[in-house]
Amino acid sequence: MSQVREPAAASPALRPPAVPAALSHQDLRDDDFWRQLPGYRGLSAAEFQDYRFQSRNAVTSVAKLQEVVGDLVPASFYQDVSQGILRSTMSLRLSPYILSLIDWQHPVEDPLRLQFLPLASRWVPDHPELALDSLHEQEHSPVPGLTHRYADRALFLALDTCPVYCRFCTRSYAVGLDTPKVEKMHFGASSERWEQAFAYIAAHPELEDIVVSGGDVYNLRPEQIEYIGSTLLAMDNIRRLRFATKGPAVVPQKLVGDHEWTGALLRVVERSRQLHKAVALHTHFNHPNEITAITRQGLDRLAEQGVVVRNQCVLQRGVNDQPATMQLLVKRLSFVNVQPYYVFVHDMVKGVEELRTPLQTAIDLEKQVRGTTAGFHTPTFVLDTMGGGGKRDVHSYEYYDRKHGIAVFTSPTVRPGAQFLYFDPVHTLSPQVQQRWQDGGERAAMMRAALDEAVARPR
Ligand code: SF4
Repeated sequence: MSQVREPAAASPALRPPAVPAALSHQDLRDDDFWRQLPGYRGLSAAEFQDYRFQSRNAVTSVAKLQEVVGDLVPASFYQDVSQGILRSTMSLRLSPYILSLIDWQHPVEDPLRLQFLPLASRWVPDHPELALDSLHEQEHSPVPGLTHRYADRALFLALDTCPVYCRFCTRSYAVGLDTPKVEKMHFGASSERWEQAFAYIAAHPELEDIVVSGGDVYNLRPEQIEYIGSTLLAMDNIRRLRFATKGPAVVPQKLVGDHEWTGALLRVVERSRQLHKAVALHTHFNHPNEITAITRQGLDRLAEQGVVVRNQCVLQRGVNDQPATMQLLVKRLSFVNVQPYYVFVHDMVKGVEELRTPLQTAIDLEKQVRGTTAGFHTPTFVLDTMGGGGKRDVHSYEYYDRKHGIAVFTSPTVRPGAQFLYFDPVHTLSPQVQQRWQDGGERAAMMRAALDEAVARPR
């Protein structure tokens, strides 16, 4: 019988208390950080924390940006942004809160700047296989603004505006104002359109779960939140609602001060409890710097009422693609009672190729994140397949040709028999392979080979 030798382990009881550096996720910014900006230098905490100030003073032009940021950056930076906007699929809109959290000593590398302010100097050409509605939401849209892809759930786009506009928005075909690059489909908050969506949902008993999104439900009026919530909850088939908003990450002041909006949401949540159904808020934090003491104050209001809040994060190069950043984000979200639900591999979105990472980055990050906190607060790393196959776990590829940057997925429950491709950013591949991607025939050959390999040697 072989002898097993246990390593000499210290008793867990002797484990020393963590040093402060290990608890940095609890260290939420609580200073007058907005005062770094010349335009906000004279603002009191009460003024900055007023949610109406945040929406009235959203920065929507380079002139306004210059007014607030002043000479903290050189004129060339503003020129760079102006040129960047010409290539962008999203119009400019940042809340004073987000603008103030950017490190204006190092704006080019700043993870918040990267998400909201385009710089032409950082532009990388789009992947040749990229399309505007890469998830094919329109293909699965039986009525305007409703996507029914999965059997038991649907996405209802209640409106097409947001409190901020993210450069990388997947729904750039519809969200926000037209830009020099994109004339948008508009899904305004119209009750006539909503009624069509409600009629479709009520007529499909298999639909149990509705994501109410947009745009962003933060921009719905309180009575609209309540109307949508109560109408959907009254349907026998509906068991779950998710209200999607980036609001807590970009204007947390609204959760603190807009009692009518939060009151409406809380009444919908309460109604769901009476009906033994579930309503949750789904939000969108991407970087730990977005979470401050103001965020905690806002989210505490929801926690006091037992509102479930989950986060859907987008993996972005330079923003959250480092293990330490993602670990901190996950821990900090958990600390403020937000469940880190998903990390999405960046969709193939026009004009933001600099932000995409190879699929491998997500696979590696997942390994580094798992174990840092409880499993139910560990995000699933997923990829929303191009072409409408829905979300797949990043590890579930059928074949991944890292050399040519092509991953093949299948989606047996959504589109049985179909194959879906995801492409790593071309600029991350070898010069020889980059060359091949420039040639239409070579591209087709590389994709065909990957699809054939996926069939020939499934994992
Ligand atoms: S808040 Fe959401 S819907 Fe609005 S621009 Fe950002 S990613 Fe798109």
